[in-house]
Amino acid sequence: MEMHHESLGHARNLITDLQSYGLRLADSALAAPGRRGGAGPSDHRAITIGGRTVMVPVYTHGAATSPFAALPAPQANTAMLTRDGVELARISFPRTPRFYAHETFDGVPYWKIAQLHGADVLATTILQTCIRFADRATSCQFCAIGQSLAAGKTIARKTPEQLAEVARMAVLLDGVRHMVMTTGTPNVTDRGASLLCDSAFAVKAAIDLPIQGQCEPPRDDAWFARMKSAGVDSLGMHLEAVTPEVRARIMPGKATVSIDRYLHAFAAAVPVFGRGQVSTYILAGLGDTPRAILDMCEKLVALGVYPFVVPFVPIGGTPLADHPAPTPDFMRSILAPLGLMLKSAGLLSQDSKAGCGKCGACSPLASYEV
Ligand code: SF4
Repeated sequence: MEMHHESLGHARNLITDLQSYGLRLADSALAAPGRRGGAGPSDHRAITIGGRTVMVPVYTHGAATSPFAALPAPQANTAMLTRDGVELARISFPRTPRFYAHETFDGVPYWKIAQLHGADVLATTILQTCIRFADRATSCQFCAIGQSLAAGKTIARKTPEQLAEVARMAVLLDGVRHMVMTTGTPNVTDRGASLLCDSAFAVKAAIDLPIQGQCEPPRDDAWFARMKSAGVDSLGMHLEAVTPEVRARIMPGKATVSIDRYLHAFAAAVPVFGRGQVSTYILAGLGDTPRAILDMCEKLVALGVYPFVVPFVPIGGTPLADHPAPTPDFMRSILAPLGLMLKSAGLLSQDSKAGCGKCGACSPLASYEV
């Protein structure tokens, strides 16, 4: 039992360190299919270590000086993880998904429609434009939604038909277990809820796949029930930062939707989707203190909302490209008490039906819940 706890503690510490410091890839061949750009965290690479698939920053400036390196190993898709030159563990990289090789009926490569995230998640940005991105001064400073579009890595708008086609094949060919649909914000009324309804409805008609929708709180709470009946199983509405000053600095446009509005929206959404099926992303390391984040998490947990706290990862080309990632100790000072809080509330990553909280690859949080 003691051993068990010891190895658990070791694994969570290692993942926390890796996600803060990042990983140097010693061989450019190892760097092949990473994830750059897109909405949300990026410049990440999925690695599997001790049976857990986690996203680790590999392209960031910080990662160039990380104590961690991945050295090529003889077997395909594997590497030796070292820390300060000492061999730690064999890691593997998920193979390129089979569905990436296909094209939609209208000729768009599947990988431009949706991507494999973590171990078994299909992730898509339905609308790759955002009213808040038109002006870089008011856009979310961490976001790269427009960059991936400009780089031709995706298309501006994925139709419900395209999403349904890709989702079905990703299940059949690669065994994906749930789907994340996020979207740029198209307007200040439904804020993307309508797109999520159309998309979820089409996917559910093609294949039985749990779906998480992600959008800003729609102006009208009636959208929660509409999304649920359209096939959205769980909902993410992302605070990103928890103090008004940090929100105004990091996301000047989105901060016009107040924290109060988010809390009201959470209170209205939880009865529709269920306790633990509504979640929020909180990026740690952008200026909020651990106390402020933990205080907010307490409020969220009381509402039945899963607070998915992730270490901030700077993305190349964004205004925050040179912003440092949080230290492992900073992350531990949040995740250790948060893990206990979630455990005693019975609000666990594993109980979520779909989405980032369930996938958990972008944060060590789930390993603190046990
Ligand atoms: S936690 Fe969310 S953003 Fe991160 S890999 Fe999983 S699905 Fe993607």
